[in-house]
Amino acid sequence: MREPAGEGRLMVHPVDTGASEFRMLRSLSASIGADPLLVQGAGGNTSIKQAGVLWIKASGTWLKNARDDEIMVPVALAPLLDAVAHRSPAAETAGQFTLVDLNPRQLRPSIETTVHALLPQKIVVHVHCVETISIAVQANAEALLEERLRGLEWAFVPYRRPGLPLAQAISERLKPATNVLVLGNHGLVVAADTVAEAALLLQRVTGLLARPPRPSPLPDLDALLRLAAGSDYRLPASVAAHAVATDLASCRIAASGSLYPDHVIFLGVGSVIAGPGENAAAVVARTGSAPTSILFPGKGVLMRRDANAGAEAMARCLSDVVARVDGAARVNYLSPKENAELLNWDAEKYRQQLNREGVTLQ
Ligand SMILES: [Zn+2]
Repeated sequence: MREPAGEGRLMVHPVDTGASEFRMLRSLSASIGADPLLVQGAGGNTSIKQAGVLWIKASGTWLKNARDDEIMVPVALAPLLDAVAHRSPAAETAGQFTLVDLNPRQLRPSIETTVHALLPQKIVVHVHCVETISIAVQANAEALLEERLRGLEWAFVPYRRPGLPLAQAISERLKPATNVLVLGNHGLVVAADTVAEAALLLQRVTGLLARPPRPSPLPDLDALLRLAAGSDYRLPASVAAHAVATDLASCRIAASGSLYPDHVIFLGVGSVIAGPGENAAAVVARTGSAPTSILFPGKGVLMRRDANAGAEAMARCLSDVVARVDGAARVNYLSPKENAELLNWDAEKYRQQLNREGVTLQ
């Protein structure tokens, strides 16, 4: 049986347009999730509000599976908004507002559920669009956005950890007509009352923010294989992941710290750069740890042998983001405190655990 929960939804929401909007959202989610320039790994999420229920992507699931798997979780909207308004810790993960009867797989809602709840529009789409992130990490992000998004109802929200802190920052910036949010050092949110409008708005905004990536030299695969010899490191899954190391301007940007939350979650804090003449084993010995990825300037990237699909996706994402940041740009990095609060946050530990276990939640 392909869509057991779909039957349930039809009974709960008998209006046919509601069911078809739900199907369209799943379809849009899957296509967004298949585009690595919009979504990487378990990042990004979509939602629909129907009859007081916010259906949102489950934590740790991948948007690209939205058409074939049941990855949407029902959350009672009014009590969640009430919890946000009262800054209640219960709003942090929204888990206690999940409608158990409609959630047979016991999935947890996305850790970014409050972002979706706060926007009044029926459909909300949140992506880790590399075009957006490459602007949202810059110190003058708002000025850059003003040039490109003039005429749209957009707002810039400075970086806050996802969960209650981000929800509060959004509340402060949100106006009744706002339907585009650029989240500092994080990503993009678009909202509309139909799936078709949300898809068009997403296309429009990402088009306005798009810039060609800086060309990068090809990786030196022979040299990388030599550098990996005798270590627990291997080539990354995607050849696109090397650009952050082969392009020295990109490598310099990456070397200075963490740019956005999912990098910290899946690859660790910042990037580890090999010194001249160092192979992978020497980097591990010097750092006293085994970083998930190592950048070899001018040559390319090596991944730890056990790096999972989420880490692979984030390794490529780093190349895609920094190739769109001008080498002379002033960049905002996550602070040591911000890195630590991501790694120590219980909700993130749950998502990391699913990722480590390779849970596909089918
Ligand atoms: Zn996000």
